[in-house]
Amino acid sequence: MDDSGCKAEKGVLYIVATPIGHLGDMTFRAVGILKTVDVIAAEDTRTTARLLSHYDISTRLISCHEHNESKRAGQIVKQLAAGQSAALVSDAGTPGLSDPGYRIAFAAIREGFRVLPVPGACAAVTALSAAAMPTDRFLFAGFPPKKAGPLRALLEDLGGRKETLVFYESPHRIVSLLGSIRNQMGDRYVVVARELTKLHEEFIRGTAGEVEAALRKKEKIRGEITLLVSGRPDEKPGIPAPEELEAEIIGLLPGNPSTARLAAMLARRYNCSKNDMYQAILSVKSRVER
Ligand code: SAM
Repeated sequence: MDDSGCKAEKGVLYIVATPIGHLGDMTFRAVGILKTVDVIAAEDTRTTARLLSHYDISTRLISCHEHNESKRAGQIVKQLAAGQSAALVSDAGTPGLSDPGYRIAFAAIREGFRVLPVPGACAAVTALSAAAMPTDRFLFAGFPPKKAGPLRALLEDLGGRKETLVFYESPHRIVSLLGSIRNQMGDRYVVVARELTKLHEEFIRGTAGEVEAALRKKEKIRGEITLLVSGRPDEKPGIPAPEELEAEIIGLLPGNPSTARLAAMLARRYNCSKNDMYQAILSVKSRVER
């Protein structure tokens, strides 16, 4: 094999993607670069040590995680200045994507060093590639907030976007996230991509409600999850009949304490005036509270 481009150059910081599950997803170039750099900065040195041993790579490892990234940035810049080369890897996938990395890259660029990507796996792109959803435009939303208020604000903000939305989520929170999505964005088509490239890989497709029900049937939800949510449909449904709207508002009231926010969400959903929805909510509230 011609290995040009697979050997590390001095004074360069390489941002190297590693597999998100299947060890065979390392690229030839990633192996070549990791073998020939002077040092590898890794999010968790034990995790990376297993990968390096699989590929017979004996390069020196140092840790670089959320809590020491700034300090490590200074050390790596010094090594680059001394004519060495370095690589940055995360536990899985592409460094910098919901993972540490950008501070080190920024420090190296600021000091005039080259920062080069060595592309490979990324859970978001891997999920999109087999989701059979539009990918001409997508919005990577990363991990959604855990607290109800910030989550509601985020979903409200994203509710009007037409692109496919991509979230990372833990198996413990996926069911409740799907419930919030259904509540705030409508029962959209979603894909749960679980354990991508691993033994128990699965794609669960359907509306948020259907996928939520399928997940609830599992004894325990395990593994790593990427969630794709279809963007806002072009056609907005017409305003439902008064008794249907009233039933919908009654269902939404417990999760949406603010009348103004709920009115804004319904106005977006039905493409109508916020004030009309506000009045409808007040009238339902007054009847419910009676
Ligand atoms: N930098 C990584 C990348 O390029 O995808 C992502 C790191 S982030 C800390 C980890 C999250 O990515 C997981 O919690 C999960 O949401 C998603 N993820 C990682 N591996 C996955 C897999 N094999 N299948 C599905 N989602 C995965």
